[in-house]
Amino acid sequence: MSAAERRTRSRLAQLLSQRGVIRGTLLVRKRKCGKANCRCARGPGHESLFLVISENGRTRQLFVPKDWESRVRLWVEDYHRARELLEEVSRIYWDQVRQRRD
Ligand SMILES: [Zn+2]
Repeated sequence: MSAAERRTRSRLAQLLSQRGVIRGTLLVRKRKCGKANCRCARGPGHESLFLVISENGRTRQLFVPKDWESRVRLWVEDYHRARELLEEVSRIYWDQVRQRRD
């Protein structure tokens, strides 16, 4: 294993051992809170954060409550970082197969 690969793997392992990871895109959408006497019942909904993913061709969205927002943002960022690191490792092995290197 090369030094570069070892470094990438250890960054990946470290990242995954620290916090959660979650795949998805964060989007602000309007949402009705459901209270009959709220202004949103007739007007536009409240601006709310959603985590949106596509899974088996279906789009799913998850409402992210205010007090979860900072946590979920970190998890989304870490998911992307972990994915980039995993891609780096994958490229190494792609080249190995291509060049028939053991
Ligand atoms: Zn409302």
